[in-house]
Amino acid sequence: MVMNDGDLGSPKGDADTGMSEYHHNTPKRRDEADSAAKRITLVGALANLILTLAKAVVGVVGHSAALVADAVHSAADLISDFVVWVAIILGSREADENHPYGHRRFETMATLAVSILIIISAIVIIRDSILRIDSQQMTSPTHLALLVAALAIVVKEALYRLTIKVGRRYHLPLINANAHHHRSDAFSSVAAFIGIAGSIQGVAMLDLIAAMVVGLMLFRVGLKLGWEALLEMSDIGVDEETLLIIQELIVSEPDVVALHLLKTRHIGGEVLCEMHIQVPPRITASAGHQIAERVRLAIIKGVPRVAEVTVHVDPEDDEEGTVILARRQDLLAELEIIVNYFPNVEQIGEPLLHMLFSGCEVIMAPKISGDLDTIQSTAASLVEAIEASDSFVKATVHLRLGDLPAATSA
Ligand SMILES: [Zn+2]
Ligand SMILES: [Zn+2]
Ligand SMILES: [Zn+2]
Repeated sequence: MVMNDGDLGSPKGDADTGMSEYHHNTPKRRDEADSAAKRITLVGALANLILTLAKAVVGVVGHSAALVADAVHSAADLISDFVVWVAIILGSREADENHPYGHRRFETMATLAVSILIIISAIVIIRDSILRIDSQQMTSPTHLALLVAALAIVVKEALYRLTIKVGRRYHLPLINANAHHHRSDAFSSVAAFIGIAGSIQGVAMLDLIAAMVVGLMLFRVGLKLGWEALLEMSDIGVDEETLLIIQELIVSEPDVVALHLLKTRHIGGEVLCEMHIQVPPRITASAGHQIAERVRLAIIKGVPRVAEVTVHVDPEDDEEGTVILARRQDLLAELEIIVNYFPNVEQIGEPLLHMLFSGCEVIMAPKISGDLDTIQSTAASLVEAIEASDSFVKATVHLRLGDLPAATSA
């Protein structure tokens, strides 16, 4: 195909190749979230320390199995807080060579370890209560035990409210889990309170039954926490709703023709996201990069939990497989050999190659000397020669107005 559409200058452009993007995003928000998480975890730990001591001492002195069970619960919480604290310190370190995705995964592993601890202590409490009910070893709790249980309820409910505020604000699943844990602690103390009150009123068995209920609650907490950590460790993606939002953000970018291989995964409270976007096949690499950048920024802005987005740019749908052509430099070299057959053709600039699955297309504007007839017939022969090669499927040769002889261009 020969086109005579005026002086185009030197066609200079890059072939539309697929490319990978890796951009790291370290928002200030991350630091803010980390220090807020540290603060609320410390407050929770202090409260747990005081509650553990109070419940344990008063539970024993005040003869309440339920309060002792609740103390075990608080002790488990104390260790849990400590582990979470260490995990946050480890997790907030920047990515390094050994952990290119950062250290957020420590939070998840810590959560799993804590959940196992909670499950074990729950089993001990339940087993102990059953054994004592079975052997009629009734307890006789005092009013002091009742008072401590009441205080524990108030403190834990307050902790729940403070903690959930931080967790929701910064989307920190671990802190959210901690908050719900505080609330389940409050319920646990409510159970202890009812058991102790019932025992004082004369239903002796209620204290032990309450201890068992506290154990069951603890068991459930541990199971739930562990399950969530396991899900995250198994690289679970984002929920359906978030995935739809991300999809919508991608395809609403005008030059995104199609989307495939959209993958998300969690690390700590953050989401990593990668995808292939299909763009118009004959745009330049720089234009493709601009589209990829817009997609990346739109997702980071639209879904705050997303920390990193990797966009791969496809000029064609390669979901069913891809076609690897000869190297661009080799194609250019072959093209030069063909051009050299024509003594009156001088290549100016680099030809533009569209390296598509159907084959390589060439667009060039060489300098051709001679009269108008010669120029036109040479261009036609050049197109023919290029298209005759197995390496190229289509050639477009633009003529330069300046090359036309003055006598015929008038
Ligand atoms: Zn880039
Ligand atoms: Zn607890
Ligand atoms: Zn692809």
